[in-house]
Amino acid sequence: MALRDRPRVLVTGGAGFLGSFLCERLVQDGHDVICVDNFYTGRRQNIFHLTPHENFEVLRHDITFSLYVEVDQIYNLACPASPVHYQYDPVQTTKTCVHGTINMLGLAKRCGARILQASTSEVYGDPQVHPQREDYWGHVNPTGPRACYDEAKRCAETLFFDYYRQHGTRIKVARIFNTYGPRMLHNDGRVISNFAVQALRGEPITIYGDGSQTRSFCYVEDLIDGLIRLMNSPDEVTGPINLGNPAEVTVKEVAEEIIALTGSRSTLSFHPLPQNDPVRRRPDISLATSVLGWQPTVPRAEGLKKTIAYFQSQLAGE
Ligand code: NAD
Ligand code: UDP
Repeated sequence: MALRDRPRVLVTGGAGFLGSFLCERLVQDGHDVICVDNFYTGRRQNIFHLTPHENFEVLRHDITFSLYVEVDQIYNLACPASPVHYQYDPVQTTKTCVHGTINMLGLAKRCGARILQASTSEVYGDPQVHPQREDYWGHVNPTGPRACYDEAKRCAETLFFDYYRQHGTRIKVARIFNTYGPRMLHNDGRVISNFAVQALRGEPITIYGDGSQTRSFCYVEDLIDGLIRLMNSPDEVTGPINLGNPAEVTVKEVAEEIIALTGSRSTLSFHPLPQNDPVRRRPDISLATSVLGWQPTVPRAEGLKKTIAYFQSQLAGE
């Protein structure tokens, strides 16, 4: 196939954790991939192995500024995802999700491209409905420290549906629940990366609150498969659609699992719960299962082993 005949796919945030796995899959599938990233939380080493491929290209660019490329599909993943990083420069977080999303929707409109938004379970806030279905409107504090992310992601969804209604843009909205795996930053403050690194170093495991809050963790490769299925679904499938692993677990149980898998002597240390930290989170994925034929396949013990092995190799280089 000549290079120009391949589907041209833009991945914003392509040097980040999820973005790098997505770029890898798309390159393997023979697409012509443009990875756009401003390297705020992304790293060159995440995509270094892809650079020799003739169908892979990297652009350092901040999506809050206009971008002119010709593409058939856009995966809009650019945005820091961990609370520590998105709260570091909250105004930039909102700009990325709002100005950046307007720019990417404008690009999709001009090119007639399909565009997929990496939305989040945070649109449900601290949910009062459990498990969370797509028709739940959420329970979000609009002025708290998480609002720069939660409200900006909600606004991005609004923009997607307004472009769809107003301009007929071909949209896909994925609501991603907590996803983990290799290439998470070891210092991004997220629970799996924190606990794995702390356990491997034999340091205390920092549990916020009493550890009874729950999350449902999806292994990265399962999630990427869901994103690709959604992008390639018929036009009438717009979402929003939950993508995540419904296996719910308390934060304390995760700490104990990671201690057991690493054989660590780390002890648990308890710290104040961050403001507006959601109490319970579990996706209802019946829509993704019926519409996309998707469900996660990697059990947590297996995914955690791969993730721990990654951090082990990273720490060995320190
Ligand atoms: P990440 O921080 O590893 O990746 C985000 C990437 O976006 C980074 O490479 C960063 O440098 C880039 N970026 C940030 N602002 C940018 C800008 N203005 N212009 C260009 N690039 C920019 O996070 P991740 O976990 O890979 O998350 C990717 C996407 O998925 C995010 O949109 C996030 O909100 C969403 N998401 C992730 C999870 C999860 O559990 N990982 C859950 C829900 C939603
Ligand atoms: N958490 C914790 N210790 C840590 C990091 C996080 O107890 O060292 C808790 C955090 O308070 C939250 C859960 O783990 O209840 C998931 O946190 P994360 O930042 O990974 O994701 P999010 O809160 O965005 O779901």
